[in-house]
Amino acid sequence: MTTTRTASPPTTGLLLVAHGSSEDPAASLPVRRLGLELRASGRFAQVALGFWREWPGLRGALAGLSTDRAVVVPVFMAKGWFTTHVVPRELGLDVAGANRPGPPEVRVTRPIGASEAMSELVEAMALERLGEAASQAAVVVAGHGTARSPRSGDSVRQVVEALRHRGRFGSVEAAFLEQAPGLAEVVGALEADRVLVVPFLVADGPHRAIDMATAIGLPAHPDDQPIPVGARTMWLTPSVGTHQCIADLVIKLVTDAIGEPLAHNTTPRNPHTTQLLNTVMSDGLLGQVLLSRQGDTFDLRHMEDTAFPDTQLAEFTIDGLLETLRLDADGRYRPNPYAPDLRRGWVARLSDAAAAAEAVEVIYPGLLANLSRADVGAWVDTAARLGEPFVRALPADVERIAQARCTSACLCVRRWEYARTTASRAASSRSPSDTPACLEPCPIFLAALQHALTPSSPPPDHA
Ligand code: SF4
Repeated sequence: MTTTRTASPPTTGLLLVAHGSSEDPAASLPVRRLGLELRASGRFAQVALGFWREWPGLRGALAGLSTDRAVVVPVFMAKGWFTTHVVPRELGLDVAGANRPGPPEVRVTRPIGASEAMSELVEAMALERLGEAASQAAVVVAGHGTARSPRSGDSVRQVVEALRHRGRFGSVEAAFLEQAPGLAEVVGALEADRVLVVPFLVADGPHRAIDMATAIGLPAHPDDQPIPVGARTMWLTPSVGTHQCIADLVIKLVTDAIGEPLAHNTTPRNPHTTQLLNTVMSDGLLGQVLLSRQGDTFDLRHMEDTAFPDTQLAEFTIDGLLETLRLDADGRYRPNPYAPDLRRGWVARLSDAAAAAEAVEVIYPGLLANLSRADVGAWVDTAARLGEPFVRALPADVERIAQARCTSACLCVRRWEYARTTASRAASSRSPSDTPACLEPCPIFLAALQHALTPSSPPPDHA
């Protein structure tokens, strides 16, 4: 009798890549929530997040995936410079999304905004609010757009075409913040008494709350409800990217990319749980938090709150950690999660090691993945990859920003140097419970250096 060995199916990791912001705490919140939801869905062996302007960067996030294949889903609303140039470059792919030595084998999907399911999602959002008035109402799908890229409005125009074709609304128009036709102009030309504007954006940041609201005559930060403006009723919905169906849309993009359905009950693997448990066994300190074991469960709190009785601490879920600890004690955004100003006064009780790893990841994104990495980068390699203006940075420029950003304003120990040196590589060997190591210039450092080299670029965060 012969026995046949069946190969186990390839494991699939998901990497959500997004822009993020060093100034707006709301910019990445829906993406981080989406990551938590997709991890909990049981459809992926691993879920990682990578950002252009926040921690962790795209390269570090991909390095943390140890699955057979990785599907990269750009959480952007349109194809543009980031999806066609920045994402492939940072992940070591060519523009077609190939040519990277695996593992994991990497596939890149279209951005969520260009998904075929997006028009159904926008239609559902509009019908839910307009009800029987839909056939008389005007719907405006409002994107960011940019005059620098004529194709940046394609996703919005595709959704508008699909909605017009289905004919559920009185009229459907496309409008933009930074390209023609402008939102105020489009809304001003409408004849309908009831106008619903759907922000075709990833997050509910200032573009929705201020730019779009004021362009259509609403006060800033309007609620999701009809508001009279003159003789009309205007309604500005939440941004499309915050909708609860985005997780299903991501799963559909992934299954289309791999050409097969995803399992329903995949046990999420966190290859870094061993490092986490080793840390707990030693001193339990990770950055400014203390993780301790209480039988089968784990307890996470600020290291300076160990003497406080639990009754004096606010108990947070993982989602609560995500929302609260992005701000400092004065309510200011902490774009660098490794800044030594983590607020105190909270405790999180975590049911098992996987939940503990998730909570640590929320507070210190990329930390656990970094513990097992030994590939220390050098500034010259980063600069060569990024091009202008970074290639103009002299060693003195890099050190000046590192003094301001890395030495006193960050808990990470900088391992990378300006040039490639054997010393920087040797420094990567460390015990798992060491202070967080910084293996390459992070997005926060890059934003600060870019601003120093090109003062007209967006200012870095307040820190
Ligand atoms: S040490 Fe510097 S480059 Fe590294 S994470 Fe901290 S701020 Fe960023």
